[in-house]
Amino acid sequence: MNTYTIQPLRLGTIKRKKENMSYHCGVTDVLDFPLISYYLEGAGHKIIVDTGGIAPDGEKWQPYFRNENETLDRALRGIGVLTEEIEMVILTHLHWDHASNNHLFPGARFIVQKKEHDYLKQPEPVEKKGYESDLALKTKYELIDGDQDITSGISVVLAPGHSVGMQCVVVETRAGKYILGGDLVTLLENWEASPHIPNGAFEDMDMMVESLEKIDRLHGTVLPGHDPEVFKRQRIYP
Ligand SMILES: [Zn+2]
Repeated sequence: MNTYTIQPLRLGTIKRKKENMSYHCGVTDVLDFPLISYYLEGAGHKIIVDTGGIAPDGEKWQPYFRNENETLDRALRGIGVLTEEIEMVILTHLHWDHASNNHLFPGARFIVQKKEHDYLKQPEPVEKKGYESDLALKTKYELIDGDQDITSGISVVLAPGHSVGMQCVVVETRAGKYILGGDLVTLLENWEASPHIPNGAFEDMDMMVESLEKIDRLHGTVLPGHDPEVFKRQRIYP
């Protein structure tokens, strides 16, 4: 089986109440949370998980800012990777802060859950729920229905609750299994708590708790969707 290294890339910062990331925690705290893409490399493959947010325009999704080195193409160049080398993009879900730079990878395969994609095609506007749906629907995706192997050493697990078609990405490394939690697990402290603390932003809380239990049964190391701590603990995982 192929193994991979995992590198988190910082793609700007949102300022939010902590309770938006961590259910019933820090109700009065307003904190900085990074937008994160994860770069996977192994066995000659170069893969991105999530593509970050739209360029901050001072109006949408505020407070949100990013410096010039935090665009996804610059962040990749910073680690010596060109966007045209990326052969596959896996989206944990299609919220604005995870799926808004797909256009940087015209030659790549894009993988998302069918449930997540279907949700964007409903008649009522979903922007207020965290989507840039017109932008997200410009991409031609390969639609996955449930848990599935993607390539040797990489699989996806359907984990709804934060959004209807969230998926986590399971990555084999030389130190065992890592799980990219997307927004099922926003902060390391949420995962490390017992019981796990769900994301404070959710479509269905019961489903999210079930998804946390499902991910727990995989016995992997979880990397979260919005925690600055991932950049402090290690530059490259594992
Ligand atoms: Zn997010």
